[in-house]
Amino acid sequence: MSCLFCKIAAGEIPATLVHEGERIVAFNDIDPKAPVHVLVITRDHHDNVAALTHVDPSLAAELLGVAAAIGASNASGFRVVLNTGADGGQSVNHVHAHVLAGRGFAWPPG
Ligand code: AMP
Ligand code: ZN
Repeated sequence: MSCLFCKIAAGEIPATLVHEGERIVAFNDIDPKAPVHVLVITRDHHDNVAALTHVDPSLAAELLGVAAAIGASNASGFRVVLNTGADGGQSVNHVHAHVLAGRGFAWPPG
């Protein structure tokens, strides 16, 4: 298995875990872009959110639920981002939701 996030989900590469569920794992981003920057992933490998929603929509809902629960502990708000493909800025091809909080974010993004 060569996928970085599959290895994190399997415990083969260390990460600071903030959620460990049966099908979903969340951990702190190694290069945080905000005071709170958590990545929420599926244990199963799916390339991106489009593939995930196509193959397993209930798992996609679970991913979003965990992301929202983590974000909701920040009273002043949060942002959830699912970068997809080259133009979307995706660098790891295992679906992941970024949960960002602790500062304001520009809209529209650059
Ligand atoms: P993306 O560019 O949307 O694919 O996001 C990939 C994210 O994974 C980036 O924010 C990276 O900082 C993060 N990342 C890469 N390697 C690790 C790692 N070993 N542990 C935690 N986060 C990582
Ligand atoms: Zn993977």
